[in-house]
Amino acid sequence: MHMNPSPDLHTHSHISDGTLSPTDLVQRAAAAGVQVLALTDHDTTDGLQEATAAARPLGLALIAGVEISVTWNARTVHIVGLHLDPANAQLQQGLAGLMAVRAWRAEAMGRNLAKHGIENAYEGAKALSSGRLIGRTHFARFLVSQGLAADTGSVFKRFLTPRKPGHVAVEWATLEAAVGWIRAAGGQAVIAHPARYGLTRTRMLALLGEFRELGGAALEVVTGSHSRDEVFTFARYAREQRLLASAGSDYHGPENPWVELGRLARLPDGCQPIWHDWPELSETVSVARSAAG
Ligand code: AMP
Ligand code: MN
Ligand code: MN
Ligand code: MN
Repeated sequence: MHMNPSPDLHTHSHISDGTLSPTDLVQRAAAAGVQVLALTDHDTTDGLQEATAAARPLGLALIAGVEISVTWNARTVHIVGLHLDPANAQLQQGLAGLMAVRAWRAEAMGRNLAKHGIENAYEGAKALSSGRLIGRTHFARFLVSQGLAADTGSVFKRFLTPRKPGHVAVEWATLEAAVGWIRAAGGQAVIAHPARYGLTRTRMLALLGEFRELGGAALEVVTGSHSRDEVFTFARYAREQRLLASAGSDYHGPENPWVELGRLARLPDGCQPIWHDWPELSETVSVARSAAG
C-alpha cells in the first residue's frame, strides 16, 4: 500500500533564510507528495499569503506557522507556532520587535566583520536576502561566496558563533512572550529541534516543564537534524512530559537538504501527534480512503 508522507510542519522560504519562494516551496512539497505543509519562517509571517494561494489549486493544506527566536537562560531556543491567525495584532507586534532586533544585529555584524578585514558583508548578505530579514544564514552564504570558508557549516563555526568575529549577541523574545503570542493568535506552540540546544537532562526537563506551564503544546520529535536515536530520545521526553509530538524537516532549500521534502521519518509509536485533531488531516485521510476505495 502506498503511504502518504508525514505532514511537514517546519519549513522556510526566502522570506526568511530559505532559498525558495513560498510558491516554489509549496509546489516542490506537493510534487513530493506532501499533503500538509506548514511554512514557518523565522520571526515573520509575510510568506503565508503567497504560500496559501499557491497551495489552494494543488489541494495541499497549508498550515500558517512561524518560528520565533527566543532567549531562554542565556541560550537561543526556537519556538514554532502552528495553526495560527497571522492577522493577530499581538503576534504581529511581537514579531515586529524581533524584526527590529534582526535589522540592528545585521548592521552590527557587518561592522564587526569589517573590523576583521571583511568589507561589505552587510551589503552582501542583504543582497542575498529577499530584503525583509537578514539572518546569519545570509552572512554565511556571502562569506562562502567570497571564498572565506568552504561551506555554511564551517563558516558558522569560524565566524558566526559566540566569540567569533561576526557574532553579535542579542536578546530575543522570552519563552513566555513567544508562547503567549502564539496562543493569542489561536495557535499551538512547539519546541523546535530540541537536540540542537545541547541541554543536559536536568535543563531539558526545566525547559519542557516551563514550556508546558506556559501553555506550550508540543515537542518536535522528528526533524531533519535529529538522528534516529535523538528521535527516540525526544519521543520519550514528549510522552513523559505529556507533550504532543510534531514533525518537520526544517527545510531551507534544495542546496542544503538535511532531508528532502516528502522524506520525513514517521513519528515513533506512542507519540500523540500534534495533528491528531486537525481537520486538515481527517480530510486528507478520507480523500486518501475514497481514492483507494
Ligand atoms: P539566525 O536566526 O539569523 O541567528 O540564524 C539561525 C539560522 O542559521 C538557523 O535557522 C539555521 O538556518 C542556520 N544555522 C545555524 N547554525 C548553523 C550551522 N552550524 N550550519 C548551517 N546553518 C546553521
Ligand atoms: Mn534558518
Ligand atoms: Mn530553528
Ligand atoms: Mn527552522
